[in-house]
Amino acid sequence: MKRRNFIFDIFSISLMSSLSTRLKAKNFNFTPMVRSISTWKTTEANLKAGLLLDKGIDGLTAAVEGVAVEEENPKNTTVGFGGAPDRTGKVTLDACVMNHLGDCGAVVAVENIVNVARLAKDVMEKTPHVMLAGKGAHDFAISEGYKQTDLLTEKSKEDWKKWLESEQYKPIINIENHDTIGMLCLDKNKNISGACTTSGLAYKMRGRVGDSPIIGSGLFIDNKVGGAVATGLGEEVLKTVGSFLVVELMRQGKSPHEACEAAVKRIVSSNSQENKFQVAYIAMNKDGDVGSYSIEPGFTYMDYFKGENKEKITESAF
Ligand code: ASP
Repeated sequence: MKRRNFIFDIFSISLMSSLSTRLKAKNFNFTPMVRSISTWKTTEANLKAGLLLDKGIDGLTAAVEGVAVEEENPKNTTVGFGGAPDRTGKVTLDACVMNHLGDCGAVVAVENIVNVARLAKDVMEKTPHVMLAGKGAHDFAISEGYKQTDLLTEKSKEDWKKWLESEQYKPIINIENHDTIGMLCLDKNKNISGACTTSGLAYKMRGRVGDSPIIGSGLFIDNKVGGAVATGLGEEVLKTVGSFLVVELMRQGKSPHEACEAAVKRIVSSNSQENKFQVAYIAMNKDGDVGSYSIEPGFTYMDYFKGENKEKITESAF
């Protein structure tokens, strides 16, 4: 049996039993087709999106409200409130969304606003633009009634101060430093939408923007084919327009898994092996099949399907 066919459903037994208890208690009926996947162990966020989809909510709303769970979670150090700051101690957030019609919205380098994926959706729906940056994005948020919040928690301030002692910029490979959430949602009308939201790499230079808010790099959807999202070292994803590449490879007939693998290997082939970093993609095609692939081991993603929310480990290049 090929290793690629052997996706491990870790923790699924305990997750499934606690979830099914919860679902039974609510007399829950799942909607057969709907599916939600999200990067890393973003269990509650993916569950939230899956349950919204089951209720018949559209894919874009489900994705934005799903990722909001991580944006509001102070323990997630790569997203929203509690996200690691840049090297000057400022937390700057990036996000984008894309729907089944090909409409998209993005915000970059936003300060003091928690729900930036929701803000990206507002840019898409309420402005003539696709992307707003920095102060302009912040001012738009305030005009739309968003609350100002100091995104730096005591813990992230402490960690930043510790980092200042060495000032060594070395993005760590896995969840310690990459728990950006990218999410793809297939709704009951068979429409795929997605969202991606991040505070970027910890202790980045002031003004640095990675792949996550860039349509085609951090996220891409073509509803005739499918969608993809990326996580990991944004500079490498940007150089290959990674999520667009995954979708184009699916268009050429590759499965979601094969497309993610080919896109990861494109990056691997142009980097030396001593230079270790993580990039991972997850993808979903029009039929609701899903797949993933990463450079380094240790990447997992969540998959909500038929009322079950499972964590899946991904095959990796090394
Ligand atoms: N891709 C994000 C960035 O480069 C980081 C991450 O996925 O954690 O900003």
